[in-house]
Amino acid sequence: MALRFYNTLTQQVQLFTPIEPGSVRMYTCGPTVYDYAHIGNFRTFVFYDLLRRVLHLNGLKLDHVMNITDVEDKIIRNAVAQGKSLQEYTDTYTKAFLDDCATLRLERPERIARATEHIPEMAAAIAKLERTGHTYRSDGSIYFKISTFPSYGKLSHNDFSGMVSGARVDVDTYEKDDARDFALWKAPKPGEPSWTTEIGEGRPGWHIECSVMAIEFLGGTLDIHAGGVDLIFPHHENEIAQSEALTSQPFAYYWLHSEFLLVDGQKMSKSLGNFYTLRDIFDRGYSAESVRYLLASVPYRKGLNFTFEGLKSATTAIERLRNFSFRLGSAKLSEGRSEAIEEHAVRAQTEFRAALDDDLNTAEALAAVFEFVREANTALDAGTFGAGNVVSATALLAKFDSFFEVLRPSAHADQISDAEVDVLIEERTTAKKARNFARADQVRAELLEKGVVLEDTKDGIRWKRK
Ligand code: AMP
Ligand code: ZN
Repeated sequence: MALRFYNTLTQQVQLFTPIEPGSVRMYTCGPTVYDYAHIGNFRTFVFYDLLRRVLHLNGLKLDHVMNITDVEDKIIRNAVAQGKSLQEYTDTYTKAFLDDCATLRLERPERIARATEHIPEMAAAIAKLERTGHTYRSDGSIYFKISTFPSYGKLSHNDFSGMVSGARVDVDTYEKDDARDFALWKAPKPGEPSWTTEIGEGRPGWHIECSVMAIEFLGGTLDIHAGGVDLIFPHHENEIAQSEALTSQPFAYYWLHSEFLLVDGQKMSKSLGNFYTLRDIFDRGYSAESVRYLLASVPYRKGLNFTFEGLKSATTAIERLRNFSFRLGSAKLSEGRSEAIEEHAVRAQTEFRAALDDDLNTAEALAAVFEFVREANTALDAGTFGAGNVVSATALLAKFDSFFEVLRPSAHADQISDAEVDVLIEERTTAKKARNFARADQVRAELLEKGVVLEDTKDGIRWKRK
């Protein structure tokens, strides 16, 4: 196996070797269900999906756990404001999130764990940390004492050695002894949900949730832990401190982090108001496949600037592949085959896999496929692409789609944007020029199905919505 990943912990690209040969224990940080997720969040969730798929391509079996954070400050605030119970409120957004994941064709983790269903286990873990001297209490809350965990900072490569442990640092959160200390357990507040447990009344902090559910389902040491780059510090650093203090084992060997989806160079986020949900994107007539393709096309460790132009290019790219697939099934081909095309198809498969195994280099994987499609289309136009080339070309497309999964149109894509209409009309014109009338007719029918009528006039093509 030649699979390599960049590991935030070691700051190196490393060969991936799971603890138990043939299977992978993986934990990824899930959403906080206080609202609809935006496509920035989905960049991270698409990354998890690609990670799953590359592990599968390498013949590995997965045990993947993802949490749903369903108790947290913003959730409590919103639920109280709407007069709803925590569960009633979070059920809506959990369902919306899982629906969106399915729409984006994200493989489902083997286990999805809700924080509120694991409170006693969290309390038990905190009790153990108390017994082993890693905590202190202040005003009814329980804090993790970072001075008891000397390797704190090893993931984010922050050097905390200059800080005097236990010294009071001037921060807003006055209850803490040390600026780095974080709440494991929060004191109950009037009007807020709380749980009665062996460590008292209250609710868990966010960080302990992930440690406890990861250890509960996957054991003390994971192969892979992943999340967005914003989680490296403090969330993942805190997860390591709690988990390793609890188990005295390394918490995870490979730490993978995906970069942000940006808008004009800034992180897409709720607080900046520069975000789009999947629903917003569909309202503009784009399909789930276009979003999936766009988010997957840029390697996960590179920032990706979101634009509608980019979404349109993604749409065109998918259309080009669908068109090629259609040609493979419908073109009248001569007997025999082109050896050059055969060689190229084999080479493209190898390059595709090698690129994905190289820390998920999706851009290079796509380049390998498109280079082949360009050459094959030219050969189809020239009549040198023979019937004997269909099998290898189809196999390449199948390999591509087993990973990117964008060739099948979504059933819900009944709305079509002006941009998509333009893309399809251009394609129909090209098909007609190449005397591929079957494809041209198919495009017309596809548009008609989506309520768009074409009119060929002497001034060119006009279209209208029915
Ligand atoms: P949250 O629901 O806020 O806990 O975020 C869920 C996930 O989305 C986290 O793993 C974040 O790292 C990730 N995330 C949030 N904003 C972005 C963004 N603009 N681009 C990529 N990932 C993001
Ligand atoms: Zn987490």
